[in-house]
Amino acid sequence: MVFPEFFKRHLTIARVYGIPVRIDYRWFGVVALSVWLIASNLQNHAIQVGNVRLPPHAYVTAWLLGLITTAGLFLSVFGHELAHALMARAEGIEIEEIVLHPFGGLARLKTEPQNPRAEFRIAFAGPASSFLFALLAFAGAKIAAVGNYEATVVVFFLIASGNLLLALFNLFPGYPLDGGRVLRALLWRRSGNIVEATRQAGICGVLIGGVLILFGVYILVAPNWRPAQPYFMGGWSILVGLFLLDTAAKVVKSAHEVQLATVADAMSPPFAIEPGLTILRFVDEVLPLHRQTTFPVAVDRRLHGILSLEDVKAIPRERWGATRVQAVMRPVAPGFFVGPSTTLDSAQAVMKENGVGAIAVVNAGGELVGFLQSGRIMRRAKAKSR
Ligand SMILES: [Zn+2]
Repeated sequence: MVFPEFFKRHLTIARVYGIPVRIDYRWFGVVALSVWLIASNLQNHAIQVGNVRLPPHAYVTAWLLGLITTAGLFLSVFGHELAHALMARAEGIEIEEIVLHPFGGLARLKTEPQNPRAEFRIAFAGPASSFLFALLAFAGAKIAAVGNYEATVVVFFLIASGNLLLALFNLFPGYPLDGGRVLRALLWRRSGNIVEATRQAGICGVLIGGVLILFGVYILVAPNWRPAQPYFMGGWSILVGLFLLDTAAKVVKSAHEVQLATVADAMSPPFAIEPGLTILRFVDEVLPLHRQTTFPVAVDRRLHGILSLEDVKAIPRERWGATRVQAVMRPVAPGFFVGPSTTLDSAQAVMKENGVGAIAVVNAGGELVGFLQSGRIMRRAKAKSR
């Protein structure tokens, strides 16, 4: 389907290790801006890097160097995202895509990391690779300085500085920056609660976004201290701050909603089977129509127990015709049901412990009103928060 693809904001330019690399159209504007900034600086100012002094360049050379440096910088951003993606793959997570957008890049994973250790490694891989690229580029600048290739020194130096900045900025401890993900992983490991960890790391992200905006405004209006390009630096800081503030605020809000979500928000309707049903009929007639691994067993909305496919599999096939559900099910016990107003968090904690990974929802009148399965909650709660 070529037609709708055309109207998307993302353009697929390549596949690297099977990962689609997409570009946000606005990204081209930032690339052009970067080439222009570097070229006009090289053209109008002498540049001093250590002992190397680069006189102002002719028009064509300046633009050529601007192009080469920009290409190096954006390859560095791509390398940073690729490091996240490859580490995610090593942790068993598939990658949806790598997107290059005006504020850098994003490696989009198909699923969230399942444990704090995986989260930590995936988050840290990006800044670590940027530090490595910075080191290599500094080494390149040193070598070029020995050979007196002034222009090469300056290009390598700019790429090294860009990578160092990328690594340091991304390590700011506010979600969704890499440092914020590292922080989330640490909080998650300590409390065991990913939702609360996400909320706290998100609040740090909101604060850092706010500081960046204030810093940008300060650069624009401060009377004493003005960097070389106050409007550009100030404007950029404000834009990045707004982007971070907005993203982090959404993360905090959705974490809050998930925290407040109750069992009633996420449960599915109570489809129950009767205890007198034979396993044979259950496998032939019920199972093909209901794709789930656990079933509540009830008579007239009164819960009798929970049937798990694991337990059914343990029964030899030749006995299915003679065995009834009530002989295989786990009889009702305190860990098998909760009330509809229980929070999802605590229902999940109960499900983790009860051995069936599911829980029946029973109202104050003792009637079965719903059913929850641990694998399905996350998806529904997430869908709701978006
Ligand atoms: Zn990163």
